[in-house]
Amino acid sequence: MCRHLAYLGPSVSLASLVLDPPHSLYKQSWAPKDMRGGGSVNADGFGLGWYLENEAVRYRRSVPIWADENLPGLTRSISSGAVIAAVRNGTTGMPLGEGAAAPFQHDQWFFSHNGLIRDWPGSVAKLAEGLPVTDLLTLDAPVDSALLWALIVDRLDRGPAEAVASVVQDVEAAAPGSRLNILLTDGEQLVATTWTHALWVRQTDDSVTVSSEPWTDDPGWRELPDRTLLTATRYACSTTSMEGRQ
Ligand code: GLN
Repeated sequence: MCRHLAYLGPSVSLASLVLDPPHSLYKQSWAPKDMRGGGSVNADGFGLGWYLENEAVRYRRSVPIWADENLPGLTRSISSGAVIAAVRNGTTGMPLGEGAAAPFQHDQWFFSHNGLIRDWPGSVAKLAEGLPVTDLLTLDAPVDSALLWALIVDRLDRGPAEAVASVVQDVEAAAPGSRLNILLTDGEQLVATTWTHALWVRQTDDSVTVSSEPWTDDPGWRELPDRTLLTATRYACSTTSMEGRQ
């Protein structure tokens, strides 16, 4: 299972989120604490997305995060008030490559998926048929996460929370037992789900952080129950149960 995080708040260096904490995402790439049977390391690529003066910027690589010698310098020299990052442990049978690593992007939106679609790809072929053919022909990679993203993008006009919740519901119905832990942000709002895997949240007066694993001993980290939909801005965060959506 991949590990991911998102942050909205005052501008901070990317390194302070991804590299420096004692149990940082960087460290979680080779020493995650909570993989729940979904692999042991997250070495199949990584990615970061951030916003600078409202422009979404992305950096993805197909190598393990620890193998990118430029990353420490890069992340120390960039600060942002909205960041998403992920390290990937590719699901068996899925291709490798930069295009398969989160975050996936559409305009201002960044997306990350921790999990898998059961019985890929047959289980969701009918759902995919509802998408414009050009969307399918331009997926970043033939992986379950990219299809999930295309399904959500197609529904963004319903609002980000409804787009995510309805796609989780439809994919679970088509492919029961799927693992659909999602992060979505446009730099102002954050939507996240727990659907078979952990997500921790830490809130302050003017920031919200979510992460697959807490990266400090700070008692402010709170674990979300499974099947939760979180919606947040940097100043407010609310959660609702998705149980009824099964
Ligand atoms: N299924 C996705 C992939 O193959 C996500 C993998 C994961 O969460 N470990 O990239």
